[in-house]
Amino acid sequence: MVKGYFFPTSARDCKFTGNFFYNYMMGIEFNPRIGKWFDFKLFFNGRPGIVAWTLINLSFAAKQRELHSHVTNAMVLVNVLQAIYVIDFFWNETWYLKTIDICHDHFGWYLGWGDCVWLPYLYTLQGLYLVYHPVQLSTPHAVGVLLLGLVGYYIFRVANHQKDLFRRTDGRCLIWGRKPKVIECSYTSADGQRHHSKLLVSGFWGVARHFNYVGDLMGSLAYCLACGGGHLLPYFYIIYMAILLTHRCLRDEHRCASKYGRDWERYTAAVPYRLLPGIF
Ligand code: NDP
Repeated sequence: MVKGYFFPTSARDCKFTGNFFYNYMMGIEFNPRIGKWFDFKLFFNGRPGIVAWTLINLSFAAKQRELHSHVTNAMVLVNVLQAIYVIDFFWNETWYLKTIDICHDHFGWYLGWGDCVWLPYLYTLQGLYLVYHPVQLSTPHAVGVLLLGLVGYYIFRVANHQKDLFRRTDGRCLIWGRKPKVIECSYTSADGQRHHSKLLVSGFWGVARHFNYVGDLMGSLAYCLACGGGHLLPYFYIIYMAILLTHRCLRDEHRCASKYGRDWERYTAAVPYRLLPGIF
């Protein structure tokens, strides 16, 4: 906050709304840095919390073994499914640079506290629950959870990859084996320059406008279902993710509608649903 006011890295990218609390919450600087190498957004979004997520989960598995002399299949499932998500993050780190957090959000309390406190404490609740309430799932239940988690991950990864490939190749690629359907669009940036862009209407982006979030939600539900039905606490994650991603979806669409105007309306006419076809 202080840096944003007094020593901004790039004064032209600072956002001052006139509301002190909003500035604190949503951030002033777009890409605050110290020197050439330390980038606040990249470091906080991409290092402490996400690494701690896996380490804390592993610690919970060790603690469960210490207390109950074995590790249950539910604990293994939670560890494996969440580790896949984290490994994916590092494996596809360049893709991550194109997400809303990096491309559009400014760096303030929302990102900093969210990454360093919220993520490692709240995303590990299932593991913590299983330490004190060990759950051993029946084989069909465990297989069902595993399949839901893997299908969710598949949708999440493929949908994000489709958009990334489409944008990287400027539409010169194949989506589900075919030339993609495209909506050509244009927008004016703050400096008054006119730019052109493209919206993908094929693959998962033709199913719903944020089907990548649906994959994420399926994975999140799988982590919770791994804890059985004994308590509401481990279900906190899916409730939170549903709120986060629905709000994110509306926030993003609001931004896209003001950025692309009528071109965005053409996209919403071609792909009428946000998350679930026929429902929302
Ligand atoms: P997206 O990757 O969906 O990016 C949205 C942006 O993509 C839009 O602002 C627009 O940007 C562009 N876009 C929208 N529609 C199209 C289209 N049809 N064709 C081409 N470009 C389009 O959003 P996020 O960054 O929020 O999410 C990335 C992933 O990260 C998701 O899978 C999400 O589930 C996950 N995530 C996970 C979180 C967690 O805590 N576990 C938190 C947040 C996200 P432009 O201006 O460039 O056109």
